[in-house]
Amino acid sequence: MKRRKFNSTLALGVSGVALTANMPLACAMNSNQNKKKLGVALVGLGSYSTYQLAPALLDTAHCYLAGIVTGTKEKEEVWANKYNISQDSIYNYDDFDSIKDNPHIDIVYVVLPNSMHADFSIRAARAGKHVICEKPMAMNVEECDAIITACKKANVKLGIGYRLHSEPYTQQVKRFVKEKTFGNIRYISADAGYYSGSNPNQWRLDKSLSGGGALVNMGVYAIQSLIYGTGENPISVAAQEFSTRPKYFKGTDETITAQFEFKSGAVGNIMTSHNANANRLYASCEKGWFELNPANNYGPLQGTTSKGDKISFPHESQQKLQMDDFAKHILFDAPNLVPGEMGKRDMIIVEAIYKSIAEDGKKQVLDFEPRYGFGE
Ligand code: NAD
Repeated sequence: MKRRKFNSTLALGVSGVALTANMPLACAMNSNQNKKKLGVALVGLGSYSTYQLAPALLDTAHCYLAGIVTGTKEKEEVWANKYNISQDSIYNYDDFDSIKDNPHIDIVYVVLPNSMHADFSIRAARAGKHVICEKPMAMNVEECDAIITACKKANVKLGIGYRLHSEPYTQQVKRFVKEKTFGNIRYISADAGYYSGSNPNQWRLDKSLSGGGALVNMGVYAIQSLIYGTGENPISVAAQEFSTRPKYFKGTDETITAQFEFKSGAVGNIMTSHNANANRLYASCEKGWFELNPANNYGPLQGTTSKGDKISFPHESQQKLQMDDFAKHILFDAPNLVPGEMGKRDMIIVEAIYKSIAEDGKKQVLDFEPRYGFGE
């Protein structure tokens, strides 16, 4: 038995599941293991899986790394040794569908280029596995619908990889909004971007793989900030695109700004870029302001308010918190903080932004149900 599985079985024993002296260990493991600590399979072992998700899964309380899906043969042995993954839980993109027969895998986490999100999320759902799909949810709204439908049909849970909803600074912002600590929000500004360097061959700059540029990669964080920073979905958006390096950013957007209106009367602005570092959420309210800066990296984040307070929480891996929250949704019916509808809502806004740009900044009406996409 692989060490990690053995350890997680032991953990079951001490966490209250009847592991009697007379019961064979393997029997106890088969009947209880998946119910107590869910097995996650990471699909795509690129930088996010390697440096964030897999290390976080060593610390999660309700799930663990049980399997991998990779197109790179050499990674199989390296990962198997590092994370004690058994040979029968290692898949490639072609034999992936046979994951349906693996009782140790409960959750499939899709961490591939954006063009592959829908395909693998739908195949995971059809295999009867719960799905976490990375952001942006898909290439377009139609694909988001297909993922949501597949998960509903298979009766599996769906979450999107927006890690900040499980993170305490973001949760504090949500509390400020809900409790009106500074009164109603009048203006909100959110920036998310980074300098993408000098590698024009990366998949994020290939529209057929990414679906778009800065907006789909980083802009979705700014859209998210805007929405949890007001507690509302926007009712309109108008947008502009700027290009200073058109040769480098041939097929994808470099920098976008967009202005939003909300039903409450609040207005908002986002800036997203692959050419400028930006990482901030600022809300001006009736009776003061609050700010996160940085607002959306892996943390620790930082916050300040007009009262002179520093927002401060001990740092924990955001990915650990996120995956445990999703596991708790499955295990204990806790709220799904990041449902598929939230990913779809953001893609509706992304499409409206691109439409506005194509129409020279014309305002686009957005028409969501009041709480559509919120994960409470
Ligand atoms: P990456 O380039 O480091 O890894 C991509 C992986 O996909 C690699 O293992 C690569 O081998 C594999 N792959 C399969 N087919 C491919 C193809 N045709 N072209 C390129 N790679 C291919 O990317 P990443 O940073 O790990 O991002 C993966 C996903 O995770 C993206 O959707 C990204 O938006 C998302 N992501 C989310 C966060 C977050 O904070 N939530 C952070 C980083 C990345």
